Amino acid sequence: MAWRQGPQGQTPDLNIGERWSRGAIIERAVHASPRQPQREPEHSTRPEPPEVWCAEVFDIIEWRRFETVVEALFAQAGFETRSQPCGADGGIDIWLHSKNRGGAAVSIVQCKHWTVWKVGVKPVRELRGVMAAHGIARGQFVATSRYTADARAFAKDNGIMLHDTYSLLALIGSRDPKQQQELLRVALYGEYWRPTCASCGLKLVERTAHESGKPFWGCRSYPKCKTMMPMRRDPTDAASGAAGTRA
Ligand SMILES: [Zn+2]
Repeated sequence: MAWRQGPQGQTPDLNIGERWSRGAIIERAVHASPRQPQREPEHSTRPEPPEVWCAEVFDIIEWRRFETVVEALFAQAGFETRSQPCGADGGIDIWLHSKNRGGAAVSIVQCKHWTVWKVGVKPVRELRGVMAAHGIARGQFVATSRYTADARAFAKDNGIMLHDTYSLLALIGSRDPKQQQELLRVALYGEYWRPTCASCGLKLVERTAHESGKPFWGCRSYPKCKTMMPMRRDPTDAASGAAGTRA
């Protein structure tokens, strides 16, 4: 993906009622004026988003925005990237194609926006299975959590590179300042905190449970789509609420 420069000073809106591909979000975020802060409503208690890359950025973004940042990161590294549409995961979140090898697929990426667990060997084995099914020798497992010793050993023997929050931050830190800013804009553009429905790709909306009165995230196309996601006390925590739905 090329980092095309768009007209400066425009403020493209992300309508949350529409499906946005990761590529479209990357394009729009990069085209937005540098460091264009998203105005929060007056009553919002959400903290100001960080101005530089740090672990907190991965904590406050929702799961699909995490995948978008990962895709942008690989695009910066020179790969042609291809996203999987929502609901069509199949164990692959991003395809990486080599520009030097005639656009051939060279690696597949699985992303897990998990904040609590250590990634065990099982999902890494599953990625190996998907790689074998597609005849791809290299895989990338990208998570916001650490990995068990078993997972690390298996990955090492099977052509899989493991990334966690800290290796991602190191990778981002190795990019030039302009690239780092572009990635930060991709992370924090629009409603970065509002989770996306894993089934239909729409942004979720706040709803209230009839009986308990507790708030939760629900799909705007309910009752057609019944996706639900727990909500913590503050929408900032939405990202971690997404963890369980993508296991
Ligand atoms: Zn849905």
